[in-house]
Amino acid sequence: MKIALFDEHRLGVVRGDSVVDVTGALPAHDAGLAANFWVRLCADLPRLRPELERLAATGEGRPLSSVTLRAPVLNPSKIMAAACNYADHVTEMRPRIEDGSDSWLLNFDVFLKAPSSIADPGACVAIPRIEDREVHHEVELGVVIGREGRDIPESEALDHVLGYTALIDITLRGNGDRSRRKSYDGFTPVGPWLVTADEIDDPHDLDLRLWVNGEERQSANTNQLLVTLPAMISYASRVMTLKPGDLFATGTPAGVGTIEPGDTVVARVGGVGELTVTVAARGGRADDRRPRVEEGALR
Ligand code: MN
Repeated sequence: MKIALFDEHRLGVVRGDSVVDVTGALPAHDAGLAANFWVRLCADLPRLRPELERLAATGEGRPLSSVTLRAPVLNPSKIMAAACNYADHVTEMRPRIEDGSDSWLLNFDVFLKAPSSIADPGACVAIPRIEDREVHHEVELGVVIGREGRDIPESEALDHVLGYTALIDITLRGNGDRSRRKSYDGFTPVGPWLVTADEIDDPHDLDLRLWVNGEERQSANTNQLLVTLPAMISYASRVMTLKPGDLFATGTPAGVGTIEPGDTVVARVGGVGELTVTVAARGGRADDRRPRVEEGALR
């Protein structure tokens, strides 16, 4: 089942080129409390699903082109993200690490992005223009958590997955903490919808592709993941309780590169769908100098 959020946080089921409004399946839907009903849906999908399917089968579809799709994640308690999870991406980044222009480590790990960085499909993402700094695209498979859990064994990890989506982990390159460089507003476009886990035969065999202005930049398959989904979910759950609606960005393959104002970026995850955003320049202060710490303050 393809589950979409659209317009004023209506709930939809996607069928081909149309979407059926199934908001009626949710008890006490309130667009003003959309994040609450979304988390409840993520947690309760097995119970709500028969009613969603009934409404989807009997309701009238509207053309997808006539609605505004929203990111299929709303105020997740966290966005977890895998670093260094494709060997060819680690290789392409190695020179930047070695010459000191990027500060991070070349080992797999999990970091956090701000939930406020989420952008809808079709959004215009405003990127900061900072001297000597590039803003890069990273196409990734997104995993949405359904069932809460901590200390999850690898053998049970996929039981906690509600479904899959496409995402772009937009990144300001350079030194400084990843969690800040990847958390500008709009730096996590997600969508175009969520495909429930039962519809994906093998999440470790999905094509990932990304184009900028029609030019292919990234093309890979999730069979190249260094750390598999069960391993990364289990690892993260030993640190933090995974909550319904949480999002996991699973890492990007080689081919990352700059995006500039005026660009159109298309990310596609096979079996899931295609996510498009445009890029604009962000207003306001265009530097990222850290607040100064007085000399001598550190002893
Ligand atoms: Mn990434």
